[in-house]
This record gives sequence, C-alpha cells and structure tokens, in this order.
Amino acid sequence: MIVVIRPHTSPDKIDEVIQEVAALGYTPAPIHGVNQSVVAAIGDENTHPNLESLLALPQVERVLRVQKRYRLASRETHPDGSIVEAGSIPIGGRAFTIMAGPCSVENEKQLLTTAEAVREGGATFLRGGAYKPRTSPYEFQGLGPEGLRLLAKAKELTGLRIITEVLSEHDVERVAEVADILQIGARNSQNFQLLIAASKSGRPVLVKRGFSQRIEEWLLSAEYVLAHGNPKVLLCERGIRTFETYTRNTLDLSAVAIAKLESHLPVIVDPSQGCGRAELVVTLCCGAVAVGADGLLVEVHPHPAEALSDGQQQLDFTGFRNLIKQITPFLEAANRSLQTLPTQK
Ligand code: PEP
Ligand code: MN
Repeated sequence: MIVVIRPHTSPDKIDEVIQEVAALGYTPAPIHGVNQSVVAAIGDENTHPNLESLLALPQVERVLRVQKRYRLASRETHPDGSIVEAGSIPIGGRAFTIMAGPCSVENEKQLLTTAEAVREGGATFLRGGAYKPRTSPYEFQGLGPEGLRLLAKAKELTGLRIITEVLSEHDVERVAEVADILQIGARNSQNFQLLIAASKSGRPVLVKRGFSQRIEEWLLSAEYVLAHGNPKVLLCERGIRTFETYTRNTLDLSAVAIAKLESHLPVIVDPSQGCGRAELVVTLCCGAVAVGADGLLVEVHPHPAEALSDGQQQLDFTGFRNLIKQITPFLEAANRSLQTLPTQK
C-alpha cells in the first residue's frame, strides 16, 4: 500500500507514520518528494491489516492499495482462463454453453416439454427456479421441493444438467442434491453466509451480479466462494439498475469484457433478466458472444403469456430455435463452438 502524507508535514510526524506502518507488519519505505512524501508499505495486502485506518492520523492524506482485493478470482494469479466442470460438462475454453429453461418450474408438463425443446435446440443445461425470489410476497414463490423433484425428473429423461437457484443457506443441501450448478441470484449476491454455504456444498456455483454491484464487489462475491475452498465458480452478468426505463435492467456487456480481463473465471450472460424484453434477447445474445462470454442463461417457456413469472422476457420454442440460429455466425467468428451433451449421462 502507499500512504500519501500531506504537504508541509514535519519530519517527526512523517516518522510517526513510518512507525505505524511497521507496527502493522509492513516494511516501510519512505520516499521524500519536493512537496510531499509518501510511505510505501511493503507486504502482502491480503494477509496484512488494511492501512486505511491510518487515515485517522491528520497528516495522512490518502492510502492507496496496490494489489487486487480478489486474489483467487484474479487473472493475475491464474493467467489462463479456468474451465469449470459441472455435471462432467466443462464450461469455459472453446465450448460455448447454453443454459435454458423457464424462469420458474411451474408443473411437470411445462418443465418436461421445455427441457425437450431446449435440448433439441442445443442447450446442455436446463434452468428453472424451484425457489423464486419475488419482489412481492403475493407473487408465485416457486414449487420448492416439488420443483426440485421435477428438475431431477427432467434430468433423468433428457440428460440435461441442471442449474437452479438456492435462496437460503437452509436449502443448500437439498438443492445441491439435484443441481449441477447452484445459482446465487442477484438479490443474494452479497449474502455472504449463503455464498459460504454454497461454496461448502462442493457444487459449482454461479454468482450473479447484484443490481447495484460494482464489478469489484461482484468479483469479491465470487472470491467468497473460492476462499472457502470451492474452485468451481462461474460469473453471471444479468443487468444492473440504471435510470433507463425502456429495459427492466441495463445489461452491462462492458462488465463482461472487464470480467474476462480481470478474472480467469468463465462468464455467463443472462439477457432475459438483463433487458426484460423477449424481442431484445437475440440481439443481446449476439453481443454477449462478441464480447467474449462463455455461455448464456436464457429463459424459455412453452407459452410465455401464461408464465407464472417473467412472461414478458421468456422466449417460446420457436424463439429459442431462432436464437441458436442467429448466434451461430457470431460463435464461428469468435472461434467458439456450441457445446454438446456427452452421449452418456
Ligand atoms: C432468475 O434467473 O429467474 C432470477 C430471479 O434471476 P436474478 O437473480 O438475476 O434476478
Ligand atoms: Mn426470471
């Protein structure tokens, strides 16, 4: 860290800072400039105390970090992109992963017909919420354990792997029995106890970006899962809240490009929550491929107009087939190929 001392500070007050830096375990290296001095604090910032406490001294003007706060998620510590295996399917690398399915698991017919359609279309993962985080307590909350049972059945019948949201630490174990990937939703992206419990399940964890999360905070949420011993982490950009009203959220494709630069973790884009409008989903998916995403999480429903949640943003089966057709030239241009299901379950 670098501690910047205010101009016109007396030598004994500079010495005081040097001593504090040493007391906190760093090796101080003072540099005296013409107008101002700085004290470089040599030592690993991730294992030593944060020197921002020195701002309590009146002679300290600023304290600057040098290292990234997300050590394990950072590309610096892992220059090659990671490949995360989920249900024996590798995510990342050249393969491009499609995770598709309804916003909510509603009933057996809805889920099984959708599973069949998205598998035929090119998906390798079936998505669908059994536990739904709804803004209003009067809205459909998901089928809970019955939803998990249906997801397990869909997996058994189609071979698709399962991604589904876990809302509470108490449900991690039972969701992990069925899910190949645990989804941490935007509303829970800084629920640190949930991130830790998900990490400890050993299942791959997809960490959505919160509506108001800075990229650094999002990467630190992923860092929670990594720091608790689970290396299988996926990042997911799903739109952030801005002043714009033409879309439900503003899908931040620049965050995808930045996450790919800053981190080695695979990045998945959810255009459905990202814009909230079915007619924009294909265009945003093409953009996601172009900026380097490793996969998509897309909502698909047999009859979006009858959906119990998020009907306005779900594709029907024709829309899903069209999506795959439209992204194909973008995948070719990006030297990516659509992932296929292994022949054995
Ligand atoms: C969802 O995937 O249906 C969902 C609720 O996502 P998010 O947490 O991004 O809102
Ligand atoms: Mn949804």
